[in-house]
Amino acid sequence: MADKLTAVKGMNDILPPESARWEALETQVREVMRLHAYRNIRTPIVEPTALFVRGLGEVTDIVEKEMYSFEDRLNGEQLTLRPESTAGVVRAVVEHNMLYEGGKRLYYMGPMFRHERPQRGRYRQFHQIGAEALGFGGPEVDAELILLACALWKAIGLQDVRLELNSLGQPPERLQHRAALITYFEQHAEQLDEDAKRRLHTNPLRILDSKNPAMKALNEAAPKLLDFLGADSLAHFNAVRAILDANGVAYSINPRLVRGMDYYNLTVFEFITERLGSQGTVCGGGRYDYLIGEIGGKHAPAVGWALGVERVLELLKEQGNAVVDVAPDAYAIVPDAASLPSVTPVLQTLRGMGISVQMHAPANSMEGMGSMKSQFKKADASGACHALIFGPDELSSNQVTVKALRDGEGAQQTLSLDQITDWGHRLQSAL
Ligand code: ATP
Ligand code: MG
Repeated sequence: MADKLTAVKGMNDILPPESARWEALETQVREVMRLHAYRNIRTPIVEPTALFVRGLGEVTDIVEKEMYSFEDRLNGEQLTLRPESTAGVVRAVVEHNMLYEGGKRLYYMGPMFRHERPQRGRYRQFHQIGAEALGFGGPEVDAELILLACALWKAIGLQDVRLELNSLGQPPERLQHRAALITYFEQHAEQLDEDAKRRLHTNPLRILDSKNPAMKALNEAAPKLLDFLGADSLAHFNAVRAILDANGVAYSINPRLVRGMDYYNLTVFEFITERLGSQGTVCGGGRYDYLIGEIGGKHAPAVGWALGVERVLELLKEQGNAVVDVAPDAYAIVPDAASLPSVTPVLQTLRGMGISVQMHAPANSMEGMGSMKSQFKKADASGACHALIFGPDELSSNQVTVKALRDGEGAQQTLSLDQITDWGHRLQSAL
C-alpha cells in the first residue's frame, strides 16, 4: 500500500454525522437572512494579494503574518487565499457597480485561510458566515446587523454570548487619540512587548488589540478613544445604543475593543463567550466607511460582521445541543441483484415523494447481495424507521413488504407496488 496522505495541519475534514450540524446551521442562516432581506453573494476564494494589503492594512496580524500568499506560476501575479471575506465582497460590489441603484444587504458563507497556530477554535482553514450592508451610513443599519446576529443566536439556540460595543470614531478623532496613545506608551516604553514596540509609531491603536496578558494592565489604563469622540460620532453611537435598548439587547461598552483590521470606524462590536477558553469571540464586526474608497470605488459607507462557524458549533456542542438525526426513512432490502431493475424505479418514486431511502449495496458484488439477516442488520444500523423488503416472493407478485423497525417494531404489511405511493403519502403526513 502507498504511504497514507493526511490533511494539511490546521485544516479539518468535516465528516458525518458532524456535518449535519453544519447543514442545519446553514439552513437556519439562510432563513434568518431571508427574514432580514439579506441576499447571498459568492466571491472567489483566491484574490489578488494587494486587495488584502490595501483593505486590511499593512500593520495587522493577518497581513503581517497570517496570509497564505503565492505567485501564479504562469503570469507571476501575487495571489492570496482569502483570510476574510469583507474585502472580496467590497471588491465585487465595486467591480459590478452594485451600489448604482442604492444600498445592498448581502451575506456569505465559506472557508477562510489564516496561517495561525492551530488550537481549539483556531484553525488554518476555518469557516465564516458574514453579513454586510453596503451603501448605508446611518446607525439604524449598525443596529439592524446586531439584531440580525441576535435573531440568529435565537434561531440556533445559542446561549451565553454577550455583546461588547465600542466606537472608533472618525479618522480625525483617531488621529488625536493616536497622538495621546503614543505619548502614553512612550512614557511606559519599558513595559512594551516586541509587537507593541514595532507598532508604536506605525499603528499604536493595534497595541490595544494585543493578546499578550503582560500588556493587559498597561492597555487598560491607556487613553480611551471614546473620550476623543466629537458630537456626530457620539450621536451615531448613542443612536445605535437606543435601538439596541429598545429591542432588549444587552451589551457592555468596551473601550479597548478595536478589532483586528484597520478598516473599521464608528461602531465596532463582538459577541463573546467565556465557555470556549481564550478563543471566545464568536462574531465580530463594525462599520467600515472608508474601505470601499480604499479599494478603488466611489466613497460609500458600509457595515458588517462575520462569525466563526467552528466556534459557534463548538459552543452549541458545549451547551449539549444534540446533533440532528439524519437517518433515512426507509432501508431497501434486496436479496437478489437481478431484481434491481424492478426495485430501483420504486425507490426513485418514493424519493420523488420526499421519502429518504437507503438502498442495500454489498461491498463486493461478486459475493452477491448478502443474506437477509445481514441486510436486516445493516437496515437497523442505518437508523431507518422502515425496511422495504423486495424478496423473491414479493417481486414475483409485484409486491413489497414494509416492516417497522422502530415504532411498533416488527409490524409488517405486504403491499402491491401500486399501493406503495399510498403508503408513502401516509408516511409523509406522519413525518
Ligand atoms: P481572534 O481575535 O480570535 O484571532 P479575529 O479578530 O482575528 O479573531 P475576525 O477576523 O474578526 O477574527 O473574524 C471573525 C470571526 O472569525 C472571529 O470572531 C472568530 O470567531 C472567527 N475566526 C477568526 N480566525 C479564526 C481561526 N483561525 N479559526 C477559527 N475561527 C476563526
Ligand atoms: Mg485573529
